[in-house]
Amino acid sequence: MKSRALVLGAGFGGMELSTLLSEALGEKADVTVIEKGDAFVFGYSKIDVMFGRATPEAVRLPYCNFVKPGVRFVQETITAIDPAARRVTTTGGTYEADFLVVALGADYDLAATPGLAEDGYEFYSVAGASRLREVLPAFSKGPAIVGVSGFPYKCPPAPSECALMLHHYLAMRGVRDACEITLVIPLSSPMPASADLSADLVAAFSERGIKLLLGRSVKALEPGRKTAVLDDGTELPYALYLGVPKHQVPQPVLASGMAENGWVPITVRTLETRFPNVYAIGDGAATGMPKAGSFAESAARAVASSILAKIKGGEATPNSGTGSCLVEFGDGRLGWADLDFLTGPKLTSTYHPPSVEGRAHKVQFGAKRMARWFGL
Ligand SMILES: Cc1cc2nc3c(=O)[nH]c(=O)nc-3n(C[C@H](O)[C@H](O)[C@H](O)COP(=O)(O)OP(=O)(O)OC[C@H]3O[C@@H](n4cnc5c(N)ncnc54)[C@H](O)[C@@H]3O)c2cc1C
Repeated sequence: MKSRALVLGAGFGGMELSTLLSEALGEKADVTVIEKGDAFVFGYSKIDVMFGRATPEAVRLPYCNFVKPGVRFVQETITAIDPAARRVTTTGGTYEADFLVVALGADYDLAATPGLAEDGYEFYSVAGASRLREVLPAFSKGPAIVGVSGFPYKCPPAPSECALMLHHYLAMRGVRDACEITLVIPLSSPMPASADLSADLVAAFSERGIKLLLGRSVKALEPGRKTAVLDDGTELPYALYLGVPKHQVPQPVLASGMAENGWVPITVRTLETRFPNVYAIGDGAATGMPKAGSFAESAARAVASSILAKIKGGEATPNSGTGSCLVEFGDGRLGWADLDFLTGPKLTSTYHPPSVEGRAHKVQFGAKRMARWFGL
């Protein structure tokens, strides 16, 4: 009998893992991918949508094009996970497997920040970015806050990118002088894993008059007073609040007993959970590394290698903990840091300073995955 693999979620991690198993086993693979959505959207496309650079329809990559030998795509919502039995219940039925991989990403807990749903705008979902697309053209004066409500959160430099994009968006409309921009992030620098990228971001904020508050997060919005309250008690007035809500694993993962403090503990080199042949990859796994698509992919490579070693024998290649963080500076330039957490004894970071040519790197990043996963 073939070994059955059940992959929960078709994001960066789930699609890369399924693709690798399909490449290695072809029709002999027995992979079922369960995903509630009908299309994939790159995280960074949400920034494009909110600033009107792309329509919500244009950034959708329908899963009907995700077709791989030996891989079955099922569009259903997962409602329960029993990791001990490797059994999953969905809106369409029950599935069991020899290998279970949780790749369900992270959900947003808007209610954890009182006032956010009522008077703020989150920009981390397609729905939130689409709402902002309608709201931003009407914003032309007063204080804007880009605020983060918890840690860890996806793509650590994305709030910095949002603040820079907002600056240029307002400048292009000729209203920047009538607006203030404050960025509130819980980190000690805009991108702690890359001192060079952080330094360039801090310089860019300073040049553009963007106020940066580090080491703090937004605890609540008080809509009546149009005031954001930070965790150290600081109060900031806002006319427009752009927020990153608190993150945690999706509800079925929380209810499964796999998560601790909102995230799934794993062995960082193997991505194994405490349940035999159950792995967690991507944003939902407590790796201590940035929550970014490229890190979900390096985890997927390690899990594919582990599953293949268990099926066919041989040594598994451990997680390299590699990935890159791309940042648009809003003026047409893009910089990025290639990070490697686990290959050597300590983190190494290779920095590519912002340049107009750097944008091609992001275009290639997207094109490579569209070709690999969707045959586009
Ligand atoms: C604004 C922004 C900018 C970003 N920029 C970058 C960038 O430039 N580079 C980069 O590498 N990363 C970037 N990211 C981060 C990146 O999008 C995530 O880290 C990445 O998507 C994580 O991959 P994943 O496989 O863990 O989860 P996801 O890609 O989120 O996939 C999880 C999947 O699980 C599905 N799912 C969840 N719950 C259920 C359920 N109950 N039943 C069925 N299916 C379910 C979801 O629909 C989803 O498709 C950005 C993120 C944001 C928000």
